[in-house]
Amino acid sequence: MTNTPDHDDILPATRLVTAGRREEWTGTPGRPGAVVNPAVWRASTHLYPDMASLRAGGANADGEFYYGRRGGPTQWALAEALTQIEPGAAGTVLYPSGVAAIAGALLTVLRPGDVLLMTDNAYEPSRVMGRGLLKDFGVETRWFDPLDIPAFEAAICERTRAVLLEAPGSLTMDVQDVPTLCAIARARGLVSVIDNTWASPLGFAALAHGADISVMSLTKHVSGHSDVMMGSASAGEDWYQALRKRAQGLGLVVSPDDASLMLRGLRTMAVRLERETASALAIAQWLEARPEVARVLCPMLPGSPGHKHWRRDFTGGCGLFSFVFRGGDAASRDRFIDALALFGIGYSFGGFESLATPVDPATIRTASAWPLAGMDSADRFGVRLAVGLEDPADLIADIEQALAAAIER
Ligand SMILES: *Cc1c(COP(=O)(O)O)cnc(C)c1O
Repeated sequence: MTNTPDHDDILPATRLVTAGRREEWTGTPGRPGAVVNPAVWRASTHLYPDMASLRAGGANADGEFYYGRRGGPTQWALAEALTQIEPGAAGTVLYPSGVAAIAGALLTVLRPGDVLLMTDNAYEPSRVMGRGLLKDFGVETRWFDPLDIPAFEAAICERTRAVLLEAPGSLTMDVQDVPTLCAIARARGLVSVIDNTWASPLGFAALAHGADISVMSLTKHVSGHSDVMMGSASAGEDWYQALRKRAQGLGLVVSPDDASLMLRGLRTMAVRLERETASALAIAQWLEARPEVARVLCPMLPGSPGHKHWRRDFTGGCGLFSFVFRGGDAASRDRFIDALALFGIGYSFGGFESLATPVDPATIRTASAWPLAGMDSADRFGVRLAVGLEDPADLIADIEQALAAAIER
C-alpha cells in the first residue's frame, strides 16, 4: 500500500498511533459506529457490484478490491502504517514471515548469473538462503567482513548485482557503516537490501540512509507478544512495484487476523522499545563490570563493534545484545543458561518476555575473524539476551545467580 502525504509532518511516536487508520477502514470519526482499529476483514472472495467493476479489477491497482490474494483493508492498513513509519518509503509488501520477506526482496532484485554480496554477520537463515535457495536459482553469494569497507569495495565484480546488509549483526551485534556501504553500492550500480529487524524504522531510518529496500521481521518488535509471524519489505516507488509484482507472482499473502494482531502491536512499539533499550543498556553495563565476562556486544555501549555508527546513524536501540564469557567452556555456558529463571530458552526477541540463547559465531562466520580483533582466543562462548519488559533489577539478580551457578560444579 502506498503512502498518504499527510503523515510526513508528525513525529514517529505519533505516527505509530495515527498510521493506517483511513476512514474507509475505521468509519468516520464523529459519526456513530466509528472504531479505532481497522476491522478484521476476512475474505477470499470480494463481490463486485456489476460486470464493469469486475473488469476494472483486472488493472491490479494498489488498495482495490479484487480477490483475497491481493489482501483487503486489514492487510492494507498494516502495510500503509509501516510505510508511514519508514521515511522515504512509497509502499510496503507483507510476507508470511521475516525469512519470506528476505527471500521476496532478494528474488526481486537478483537474476540467474548475478552475485550477491552478503554481510558476514547476517541472520543465519539468510546465509542458508545464499547457500541454498539462491544457489539453486543460479545466484552466487559471497560474504564480506561487515566492518571492512575496502574489502567490501574490492569484492564488487562485474556480476555483482546486490548487497544484503544487516546492522547490527544478529549475533555479534557489530554495526555496519550503512550510509557508506550504500553509497558505494549505488555508485557501482548495486541494489542495497537491508535487514532492519533489530532497530526497526523507529531506531534506524534505513531508506533515508541509502538502502533501496528495507526488510523487517515483524515477528519481533512489531508483534511484541511472541504470538504471530510476519515480515515486510518497504521501498521507494520503483522497487515497491517490483517487490509487489514478485510477491504476487509467488502467491504470497498474509491473513487479516494476523495483520490485525500486528497493527495492535505496532501501536505500542515505541514505548516497548524505549523500555527494552534502557533495560538492555543497564544490564549490559552491569555485565561489563563482571569478572566472568570478557566482552559485551551491545550497539548502545561505547566500545562495542561499530558503536560509533550506531551513535551517528541510529535514533534508538532495542533489548537484543550478546556477551562473551571470559574463558569457560560450552558446559559452563549451558549451566548459565539453564540456571536463568526469568529468561526463557528460545529463539526470537522483541516479545514482552526475556530470552537467552547460546552464540557461537566461529562456526558461522566465513569472511571475518571470531573472536573479534582484540579478544583473547579463549573467550569464545557467547550468550545472546533478548531483554523484555520485566524490571531490570530482577533480570540482573537472575543473571547474577546464574553466573554463580555456571562456575560451581
Ligand atoms: C527473526 C529474524 C528474521 C526472520 O524473521 P521470521 O519472522 O522469524 O521469519 C530475519 N532477520 C532477523 C535479523 C531476525 O532476527
